[in-house]
Amino acid sequence: MGIESLPIMTTRRDAVLAWGQKNSLWPMPFGTACCAIEFMSVVSSVFDISRFGAELVRFSPRQADLLLVAGTVTFKQAPILKQIYEQMPDPKWVISMGVCASSGGFYNNYTVVQGIDQIIPVDVYISGCPPRPEAILEAIVKLQHKIENPQTTPKAQYMAKEPHFGF
Ligand code: SF4
Repeated sequence: MGIESLPIMTTRRDAVLAWGQKNSLWPMPFGTACCAIEFMSVVSSVFDISRFGAELVRFSPRQADLLLVAGTVTFKQAPILKQIYEQMPDPKWVISMGVCASSGGFYNNYTVVQGIDQIIPVDVYISGCPPRPEAILEAIVKLQHKIENPQTTPKAQYMAKEPHFGF
């Protein structure tokens, strides 16, 4: 008897939830600079992020579970980014897109945050300036692998010890 003829199938509840979550990401772009333009091309028909189930871009943190930080983050914007992250419902994930968001990039000065991981936990970093659209798609796939294995996300570390940012 083949498995397709069985009327029921057993699995773990966590596995079913993770399968649904990884295939229906709702991204919210926090676009502050040129990387945000690159993200626009990823949601276009050419690169077609909907193949990965992540095309439903939201502009409200309460409707999103993937925060995609695209661009330079200044210290003035840092509290806003943190508040947006905290307004997102759990479970939630973060992608840091490009060198500016990940490390400050070439803006090594007193106005720019030298990496958003000083403010919020990051699940996947994307290198490049700007990253290619394919790199963003690769980051989505990496995140999907992480969602299937939640112990690999920094969420638990964040909950245990929230980064001090001095606001
Ligand atoms: S990484 Fe490059 S493309 Fe992206 S925001 Fe910075 S300067 Fe612009």
